[in-house]
Amino acid sequence: MTKEIVLEGLKKLLTNEQINVDADDLYDATADRYKKYAKAKKVLDNPSPCAIVYPKNSSEVSDLLMFCNQNQVNVIPRSGKTATEGGLENWKELAVVIDGKNLNEIVNIDTYNMQATIQAGVALQDLEDELRKVGYTTGHSPQSKPVAQYGGLVATRSIGQLSTLYGGIEDMVVGLECVFPNGHISRIKNVPRRAGGPDIRHIAIGNEGTLCYITEVTIKIFKHFPENNKFYGYLIKDIDTGIKVLREVFTNSYRPSVARAYSEEDARQHFYHFHKDKCVLIFMAEGPQAIVEATGAGIEEAVEKFQEGIIEQVDSSLIEDWFNHLNWSQQDIDDEVEEMINNDSHSGYTTEISADWATVSQIYDNVIKRIRSEFRFADDLTMLGGHSSHSYLNGTNMYFVYQYTINCEPEDEFRMYHHPLQTIIVEETLKLGGSMCHHHGIGKYRNQWTRQEHGSAYYMLETLKEAFDPKGIMSYGNIYYQEDAAKYQQ
Ligand SMILES: Cc1cc2nc3c(=O)[nH]c(=O)nc-3n(C[C@H](O)[C@H](O)[C@H](O)COP(=O)(O)OP(=O)(O)OC[C@H]3O[C@@H](n4cnc5c(N)ncnc54)[C@H](O)[C@@H]3O)c2cc1C
Repeated sequence: MTKEIVLEGLKKLLTNEQINVDADDLYDATADRYKKYAKAKKVLDNPSPCAIVYPKNSSEVSDLLMFCNQNQVNVIPRSGKTATEGGLENWKELAVVIDGKNLNEIVNIDTYNMQATIQAGVALQDLEDELRKVGYTTGHSPQSKPVAQYGGLVATRSIGQLSTLYGGIEDMVVGLECVFPNGHISRIKNVPRRAGGPDIRHIAIGNEGTLCYITEVTIKIFKHFPENNKFYGYLIKDIDTGIKVLREVFTNSYRPSVARAYSEEDARQHFYHFHKDKCVLIFMAEGPQAIVEATGAGIEEAVEKFQEGIIEQVDSSLIEDWFNHLNWSQQDIDDEVEEMINNDSHSGYTTEISADWATVSQIYDNVIKRIRSEFRFADDLTMLGGHSSHSYLNGTNMYFVYQYTINCEPEDEFRMYHHPLQTIIVEETLKLGGSMCHHHGIGKYRNQWTRQEHGSAYYMLETLKEAFDPKGIMSYGNIYYQEDAAKYQQ
């Protein structure tokens, strides 16, 4: 097989307008935000895909997957392109990107049964805008909401800023349609619940393009009461106080939609308008009036219990203002790339983990100490901190954030800075029994720890891959470690 033969094969399945071989677009399709600095500087060293294709329906997706499966061509499913962990990066000479651009129909909004069906290429913001017109919401609000699309949101097991009320995407998906490498199209029906064997939705949710291509999703929708929103903010002594208050709120069964605790360093960059160099704790209560009142009372009670760690309460309008300017548009993403082309420092590398209440603060402290004492280029760090932003009855997440000045060649940035920092975070988390990835997926740069993450249950993950993608054509390198591709990681 050669690239030319692949293109000839694609032309038998699609029209010319559905096949993109523009050199700039293929370069763009070579990697995602994990290597955003090398990409911006135009020094990516992995192969470009042969083409980006735009199927119009699941039958075309099926034909494409069968063709790639028969000819051992790597398939990279693509939606809004906001992936952060190398999920869209290509490691194969022969690869085709299947982009959901033409799968862009909002199929149905059913306010009686409280669900909406959308094709995989529908942007979350577009569905949210439609729902808001009739008084409903998706309840899903990742910071990438204006850009991310449903295929990617489901495939990465995404979570939004309102997760503590509405849940992660896994709590929202009712049913879905997906296509397997052998061309089989599966539709998982929409029912409120069933005990019909294992929950097969989870074979598609979080698969990161390694098992199937998601073509359509049905999600729950919620009534929206924005007029009742209440915001709470506090300056606190340390992040541990914040975690303790979060625990108190959630273990008492209150469900604010936003509940976050920030380290001083992270607070400095998010709450420049009031942080006073302190850690910050914030909440938002949402829903019908009586629920908002009760949730607010629960928050105030928890804050009162940990009074000795609370420095002062912040004007709630400042928190509301922060919340209204949180999301990233495509323009913000493009501006960041422009900034990296012109400068050698950049912001916004992150690693997100989760752990139970008893260990999360310990993991945070261990990570920060180890990075400060062990990381070879610690002097280049311009920011190191984190926040907890998604809490549960039994624990919470920690979103580590790090920024640095880059003192190396652009192609070495991820090897010298990003990967070693991520390694410390992952190692310290796994050591104490946490999960190395809370919501961005494993992608390609945490796959070396997938076995350790899952332990004896890795058998189940491995068996899924063997069953659904026996030829290994789906998103080579995502989730599953590939020894012969190690050169791209080191
Ligand atoms: C500024 C910014 C803020 C972010 N904030 C959040 C946040 O708050 N919460 C959060 O969870 N994430 C966040 N992310 C990460 C990212 O937005 C999510 O992972 C999102 O779900 C990716 O959606 P996408 O449509 O952009 O998918 P893509 O980037 O196109 O793809 C992501 C992964 O899913 C696979 N995939 C895509 N489409 C399909 C499909 N149809 N079938 C099978 N596999 C598919 C791809 O191969 C890839 O591995 C953020 C990213 C950015 C850049």
